Amino acid sequence: MGNNHVTALEINLNAIEHNLNAFKSRLLPKTKVLAVVKAFGYGSSAVEIAKFLESKVAYFAVAYLNEGIALRKAGIKTPILVLHPQKINLEEIIKLNLEPNIYSITILKAVIDAAKSLKVQHYPIHIKFNTGLNRLGFTKKEIPEILALVKNQKEVVVASVFSHIAASEDLNERAFTLQQINTFKEISNHLIPQLPTKPFLHMLNTSGIINYAAEAQFDMVRLGIGLYGFANDEAETAKLKNAISLKSIISQINTIEKGNTVGYNRAFKANETVKTATIPIGHADGISRKFGNGIGYVYINNKKAPIVGNVCMDMIMVNVSDINCQEGDEVLIFKDQLHVEDLAKRANTISYELLTAISQRVKRVVK
Ligand SMILES: *Cc1c(COP(=O)(O)O)cnc(C)c1O
Repeated sequence: MGNNHVTALEINLNAIEHNLNAFKSRLLPKTKVLAVVKAFGYGSSAVEIAKFLESKVAYFAVAYLNEGIALRKAGIKTPILVLHPQKINLEEIIKLNLEPNIYSITILKAVIDAAKSLKVQHYPIHIKFNTGLNRLGFTKKEIPEILALVKNQKEVVVASVFSHIAASEDLNERAFTLQQINTFKEISNHLIPQLPTKPFLHMLNTSGIINYAAEAQFDMVRLGIGLYGFANDEAETAKLKNAISLKSIISQINTIEKGNTVGYNRAFKANETVKTATIPIGHADGISRKFGNGIGYVYINNKKAPIVGNVCMDMIMVNVSDINCQEGDEVLIFKDQLHVEDLAKRANTISYELLTAISQRVKRVVK
């Protein structure tokens, strides 16, 4: 798509760098940083972020093979951890020098087979343990089986051992989290002496770094949403810079007389004369229909303009009765982190979902 559409998501690389350094300053100098760039870099642009961060971080992570392919095609040479590979992906993963998360005996056997058939030796793999999230990973009981498979071959090497915290942002769950950390320590203490080479360890995501850097920093951290400017609460977020803004312009202004309606299903009915602005962004761009009927709002000339009626596929209409504005004026759909956090709260979701929902139709602009 060319540069002929006015709606754009702006990515501020200086802010990304500031945020990376803000997290690095909370860590020991020796601790490596993995930048999580899955889901198009949390909806921004994985390629642009990875190019920018390549010299600044030790690792990248993506969720799926396709995301790793995109980074390698863009010339990224840094190690890339693929967090959620499938059996059928493993040969291609190895060919592209991507490093798989190995989370089950099935996948472990499959990666050894894939390396064998490609005649590859000492290929780096990453063993994930489930310590309480109950999503993906081995359990402690599977250690003997892992060892039996890993010890009798030369095809793969355990480069790292890791786990993921279930509620790192929630200090009410501190006891549970400390238990997860303990379980991970027990597992790694048991496993590592039996491996031929010493893997590195990692456990913390963004809010883990904020809350558990003292207890579970290990050798590396996996920084995701924090890079993009989002932290656990307003005070922590204030230490970060806004890296993502979603902008558009007013296409048309309409005056709606009392008794008239706006949009599909006539969801909004004017009880008095109102002035609306039509904006070229809709649910196909990732603005959920949940934001219709006053739940969501944009900023125009520094004032809040609530969404009127239902969100359409390609448009929203907002109430600008009290805003001095004209066709062509700038509209901020995501002004900054606090705006995104507030929108997320109003729609009973989280900032992660709002950011990653912005569809590929929306142009990305790097600043
Ligand atoms: C997405 C993800 C992260 C990053 O989490 P943030 O909360 O965005 O920092 C880290 N580790 C794993 C396993 C993930 O899936």
